[in-house]
Amino acid sequence: MKSKHVSIIGAGPAGLMAADILCEHGVQVDVFEAKASVGRKFLMAGKGGLNITHSEPLADFVNRYDQAHWLKPMIEEFDAQKVIAWMESLSVSSFIGTSGRIFPTEMKAAPLLRRWLSHLKKRGVRVECNHYWEGFTDDGSLRFSTAKGEKILTSDATILALGGASWPSLGSDGAWVNILARKNIAISPLLPSNCGFKTTWSHYMDPYFGMPLKNVLGWVKNDSGEIQKSSSEAILTSYGIEGGLVYALSRPLREELITHGEATLYLDLLPYVTIAQLTALLAPSGKQSINNIWRKAGLDSVKIALIREGLPKDKWSNPDCVASFTKEYPIKLTGMQPIEEAISTAGGVKREALTEDLMLRNLPNVYCAGEMLDWDAPTGGYLLAASFASGRFAAKGILKSLLNDGIHPNHNAIALR
Ligand SMILES: Cc1cc2nc3c(=O)[nH]c(=O)nc-3n(C[C@H](O)[C@H](O)[C@H](O)COP(=O)(O)OP(=O)(O)OC[C@H]3O[C@@H](n4cnc5c(N)ncnc54)[C@H](O)[C@@H]3O)c2cc1C
Repeated sequence: MKSKHVSIIGAGPAGLMAADILCEHGVQVDVFEAKASVGRKFLMAGKGGLNITHSEPLADFVNRYDQAHWLKPMIEEFDAQKVIAWMESLSVSSFIGTSGRIFPTEMKAAPLLRRWLSHLKKRGVRVECNHYWEGFTDDGSLRFSTAKGEKILTSDATILALGGASWPSLGSDGAWVNILARKNIAISPLLPSNCGFKTTWSHYMDPYFGMPLKNVLGWVKNDSGEIQKSSSEAILTSYGIEGGLVYALSRPLREELITHGEATLYLDLLPYVTIAQLTALLAPSGKQSINNIWRKAGLDSVKIALIREGLPKDKWSNPDCVASFTKEYPIKLTGMQPIEEAISTAGGVKREALTEDLMLRNLPNVYCAGEMLDWDAPTGGYLLAASFASGRFAAKGILKSLLNDGIHPNHNAIALR
């Protein structure tokens, strides 16, 4: 029996995971990648240690996504335990960090990617780099520009795993939006996520740029009074503020910015003391300088600078004012960093444009996976987890459709695992 042939466009985590499932079931897979090498963003994620997934309970895990209902069945099929087992199958061990985040022991992406590619190659997956997908011909074939000119290719099914639009130098440029929009596919605008936010600091803050704000609690209030919180580290920058705490709040902050043109990030600079305790600690004592009193109360140099920056000087000796400002420090944000500098992309192909199996309703036999789908999540391993899981899900959707066609892709593969 002639085996079925699937084209996967985009050799990131989603596309490669789809290839993994399909080749395991005897499907002939060709992966096409625009850049000269594969998985460039994955490798970049490895520079930060490759936080590949998270160990928290599945219900909490799934709730990290704005589209929890949509992603739940995908994540359930490839939860953290399965990600760990998959890495082990490639002889890559992992560990759970103190925050519950899961990393490969080597804290790099390159060894995992190398072994993964070798495994795929052994199973017959062909990877063609320097193939930039330009869209479809009138008869639905795939158009690529390559160093040797235009190539037109056909396959039984296609998976688009083209990523979002952040860090376009690594390959994902979001150009697919126009191609799919022309096919009347509903797409939420691509927006920066897990990104820094802009604010205006005075020159007084210049020496503190690049310095971390440690052990702070941040929150955002929306119009209905709902509060979203994050406790982690933030970093002051010349343009504003970035870091894990801000990334975790990037969705509500972005929504406030879109609705009101500005957003307020509140920080509790000393979350481990109550306002009453802090007021007592800030009481004037002998001839001690203000800086000394503040330091003894637990404020480090960056936090002290922030208070001097934001609180009028005539209030510095008033323990009540300093305590309440420390416990609810407002930072007015006026914009987001550009998508090119964001860690990830919100927006993408909308759920209603896809079948349950991630096939585009308007383009039969064309499936989508990964960050190009319309979901958003904070950092913490959730981005890679959903990219892997949706890549697998789309591949399984194709396998189901091949089975429904009455053509078994591989007579050795009895059931879909
Ligand atoms: C600095 C940084 C650090 C990160 N760290 C983490 C982390 O620790 N944990 C985590 O969970 N996530 C992290 N992420 C996010 C994570 O890397 C992405 O969510 C993930 O790579 C998305 O996978 P994907 O396969 O959907 O897309 P991508 O990885 O973007 O892959 C898409 C591929 O498609 C190719 N492509 C695009 N357009 C075309 C075209 N027209 N023709 C052919 N090929 C095309 C691209 O070149 C690319 O190789 C990080 C991201 C960045 C930028």
